[in-house]
Amino acid sequence: MDFNDSQIERYSRHIILKEVGGEGQARLLAGSVLVVGAGGLGAPLLLYLAAAGVGRIGIVDDDTVDLSNLQRQVVHDMASVGQAKVDSAAARLRAINPDVVVEVHRTRLGPGNVRDLIAAYDIVADGSDNFATRFLLNDACYLVGRTLVSAAMLRFDGQISTFKAHLGAPHPCYRCVFPEPPPPGLVPSCSEAGVLGALAGTVGSLQALEVLKELLGIGDSLSGRLMLYDALAASFRTVRVKPDPDCPLCGAHPTITALPGEAAPPAGAPT
Ligand code: ZN
Repeated sequence: MDFNDSQIERYSRHIILKEVGGEGQARLLAGSVLVVGAGGLGAPLLLYLAAAGVGRIGIVDDDTVDLSNLQRQVVHDMASVGQAKVDSAAARLRAINPDVVVEVHRTRLGPGNVRDLIAAYDIVADGSDNFATRFLLNDACYLVGRTLVSAAMLRFDGQISTFKAHLGAPHPCYRCVFPEPPPPGLVPSCSEAGVLGALAGTVGSLQALEVLKELLGIGDSLSGRLMLYDALAASFRTVRVKPDPDCPLCGAHPTITALPGEAAPPAGAPT
């Protein structure tokens, strides 16, 4: 791929890295990422992916910008209050980097649209704020064969991991680590329990970095490891996570072979 002069200047700090170089930058420009949620995690994630020159970025969100979002959702501003989050974020990304094609999906991710949405992108990054979406994305990414970089945060704590169980052992899926969604109401949301705004910046930026590593194929993937960040203690901890042979999705005898509402494939059919 030939870069024009402004691209050589824009991406010079990437190109100078031997792990990235011109080849890696070309790979980013040819790559595509679907970001689910244009909120606290999605904001830094989207900003850094666009700045890095990821060629095509999809944003899924059905919400509008609220004043209470601006404490952490730094992709939006006062002028965006009341606008669709996807439109507000897309305008900001286009203003940062005209190399990037931004595709907006103003919809709620659900069993009926998740398959088509994720199939159109190389990598999926989950910045959603609820367990139903996290489990649905995990199942769909496994069934469709997409790498999922998943993160979550609450109060002063964040966690992040990468899931690519579709590639087989030794890669676990989200369900291998968290078998079932907690009962509704057990784990509070950020609106109920609060979150320090800058935590979103830390965790969302880590997520952007892991997405870029997956696109570039450099460094040690977070697949098989869960990184935990305790902001009050100022400490990171990484724990090993293994595939669960009894996982209902990626285990030896799966019981989840289709998404809700889909017909299960006949026994023995490739998924
Ligand atoms: Zn699994």
